[in-house]
Amino acid sequence: MDSQSHVLERLRTAFRSGITLPEEFRRTQLTNLLSMVRDNEEQILKALHQDLAKPKFESILSEVDIVVNELHYAISNFRNWMKPEYVAKSLATKLDECFVRREPLGVVLIIGPWNYPLQLLIVPLVGAIAAGNCAVIKPSEISSATDRLVAEIIPKYLSQDCYAVVRGGSEQTKALLQNRFDHIFYTGSQAVARSVVQAASVYLTPVTLELGGKSPCLIYGRINIQAAAQRLVWAKFFNAGQSCVAPDYVLCTEATRDALLPALSSVLEQFYGKEPQRCPDLSRIVSARHFTRLMKLLEQTKGKVVIGGESDQEDKYIAPTVVVDAGEDDALMAEEIFGPILPIFTVEELEKSIEFVNRHEKPLALYVFSDESSVVKTVMEKTSSGGFCSNDGIVHMTLPGLPFGGVGASGWGSYHGRWSFETFSHRRACMMRGWGLERLNTLRYPPYTEDKLKWLRWTTSQQSSCSLM
Ligand code: NAD
Repeated sequence: MDSQSHVLERLRTAFRSGITLPEEFRRTQLTNLLSMVRDNEEQILKALHQDLAKPKFESILSEVDIVVNELHYAISNFRNWMKPEYVAKSLATKLDECFVRREPLGVVLIIGPWNYPLQLLIVPLVGAIAAGNCAVIKPSEISSATDRLVAEIIPKYLSQDCYAVVRGGSEQTKALLQNRFDHIFYTGSQAVARSVVQAASVYLTPVTLELGGKSPCLIYGRINIQAAAQRLVWAKFFNAGQSCVAPDYVLCTEATRDALLPALSSVLEQFYGKEPQRCPDLSRIVSARHFTRLMKLLEQTKGKVVIGGESDQEDKYIAPTVVVDAGEDDALMAEEIFGPILPIFTVEELEKSIEFVNRHEKPLALYVFSDESSVVKTVMEKTSSGGFCSNDGIVHMTLPGLPFGGVGASGWGSYHGRWSFETFSHRRACMMRGWGLERLNTLRYPPYTEDKLKWLRWTTSQQSSCSLM
């Protein structure tokens, strides 16, 4: 196997040769990536099932189709994204060509997590390719079947001079991070993000961080409790709660909670049957270590388990579980849950529940369920989060037109669609000047006079360009 430094040297040489710059090259690579996903769909589904017991339905929806849609969107639009963007001019620059040119950054590193191991690796890669970069891709070792498969198929479809998969766990990733990259795109936990940022600081490498956090779901005002329960259960227990944008906890009044609990019970039965462990539509916890972490949370909580709570270590199975009567200082509030456990906290007033949310780090997603638009508007205006969605969960991240990313501790930067292209591009400010209007230029040359200054200020102001329109 190539050493990391050989791989990087190969990619850097390819980037310097300019091979990734032409639109046609990028289009070919994106089209090949599309073929890779299409040709290997069965193997991808199998690997995802091995890693997480992901149901085929969820794998197609949240891995294969998200990647395919992102590819189609990029293939149809990146030609436009590459075009120079002309900007407004002043009188002093009227004869110049002034534009923003999107240029690739160079050799970028994409580090992926295990929960959506295909999507979260390939969607950023689409942006990196469309923007003309070379890329090193580091899948998560924890989703080992997908890790192996990605490493096997990517070199068969993409230029090996420009794109490489490097495998390994934390030690190998730390070693990889010792190298100079032109951008690091990291998806994963906040803890590891700190060491990624530290490593990046050596070369002042810009970093995109796609992290997690505790995404709240506020349920207030008039509400269709049956529909709310269906959407909440779907968003929370999709991929067994191992989604960065899964609702982490619910805030509602006591009356809403009392109406919600029977609705949640009946929806859970309707979705997963009387014995959820036998239901093929429920994923498993990714590893024994993650299973133990979740079980510890359930042991430590001072709340009451009112739905679920059953588990099977051998099968890495935890039943969809709902906990009530936990306090804000409970173990379930100490970290992102990232599993099939849903605590419900009761707060009687909407304003107080907004204060509850704002006492914690800014989340990756924030959900509000209500029939009342004033409730939705109040929550949107008085909180901050990476993304916001009313009356549903997760679905806001399926649109490539919307930027996907966090704010504050839930992440830096964003991607999807054009936002990915921007993330992996440098916006170079270009001014193409000729030799004309030298009389006008004399205004800025010494000897300086008050009169020259007056005219110069006018010719460089935005008003000068408006008054000439
Ligand atoms: P993780 O941080 O443990 O691992 C992610 C990647 O980092 C893996 O490729 C792993 O090999 C590597 N890594 C592990 N230890 C490292 C170290 N010490 N130095 C360098 N690299 C190291 O994250 P995870 O457990 O795979 O993912 C779970 C977290 O990711 C959750 O917090 C979740 O919310 C978040 N997440 C965020 C998004 C998003 O899009 N914002 C998506 C999925 C998951």
